[in-house]
Amino acid sequence: TKCSKNGKFSKGDLQRFGNIELSPSSGVLNYGQGLFEGLKAYRKQDGSILLFRPEENALRMRTGAERMCMPAPTVEQFVEAVKMTVLANKRWVPPPGKGSLYIRPLLMGSGAVLGLAPAPEYTFLIYVSPVGNYFKEGLAPINLVVENEFHRATPGGTGGIKTIGNYASVLKAQSAAKAKGYSDVLYLDSVHKKYLEEVSSCNVFVVKGTTISTPAIKGTILPGITRKSIIDVACNLGFQVEERLVSVDELLDADEVFCTGTAVVVSPVGSITYLGERVSYGKTGVGAVSQQLFSSLTSLQMGLAEDKLGWTVELS
Ligand code: PMP
Repeated sequence: TKCSKNGKFSKGDLQRFGNIELSPSSGVLNYGQGLFEGLKAYRKQDGSILLFRPEENALRMRTGAERMCMPAPTVEQFVEAVKMTVLANKRWVPPPGKGSLYIRPLLMGSGAVLGLAPAPEYTFLIYVSPVGNYFKEGLAPINLVVENEFHRATPGGTGGIKTIGNYASVLKAQSAAKAKGYSDVLYLDSVHKKYLEEVSSCNVFVVKGTTISTPAIKGTILPGITRKSIIDVACNLGFQVEERLVSVDELLDADEVFCTGTAVVVSPVGSITYLGERVSYGKTGVGAVSQQLFSSLTSLQMGLAEDKLGWTVELS
């Protein structure tokens, strides 16, 4: 669906997946005026389909749109559009335990602009793709490297929203880390260069005893929906959760480190390399806390546990 600069989006329609037409001078192609979201649909044993907190993605897109000078669909429009797209692609939602349907909403300045300015027209679209379980055989630890040269975000920038440019800026550091055999990059803050921020596409948590700490949201890290959910799940399980500045030095004597995100769900960190020194966690790299939180969250997302908090939306 499309709308003009200050306009409202109308209900969109379904189209077969394919190329879209875009002006060479569109706002998104020239000035990066674009936002995206990511969420998943899981199939339950009874055949129905579950979405996980889709209104949170809608709200995050609205916050991002404000920062990027774009109009955005309402929460209701967003959730309706997601439901409509998933129902039309029902047959692509994998059977229980075999993966999920990844849903990618995109909002972009599709109108033409020449000088730097917000575009005169916007397009909101959603595409989907079945994805396998991130880890084929249960949880597998990832190996991170702390990035010392590049930063993902700076104060006052756009690190706190899901704008496309944030991902362009991490490609180089991530590719270099992968070429050296690491799974991904762990970013530090750009001011003190000593506080943890996040990984290229997930948030990070540090476990010490029964305390779980994660960097506080302050505009330079993405407020992950999995992060927010894990904080609640961990509190309900009796852990003490702290959102604060987490120094890179705390990695040295942490019991466990894990990452959270829609794609990785809860991903234990097996090792972290910082200034050439490698710290490993546990014998297997899969700590008991990460395992417990992974199980609690996925059983909610897959409809295996009672959804007392009303986080899932059922489609049939
Ligand atoms: N940080 C970044 C930079 C991300 O791209 C993502 C993925 N959306 C996350 C964190 C995790 O967010 P969520 O749990 O909402 O997927």
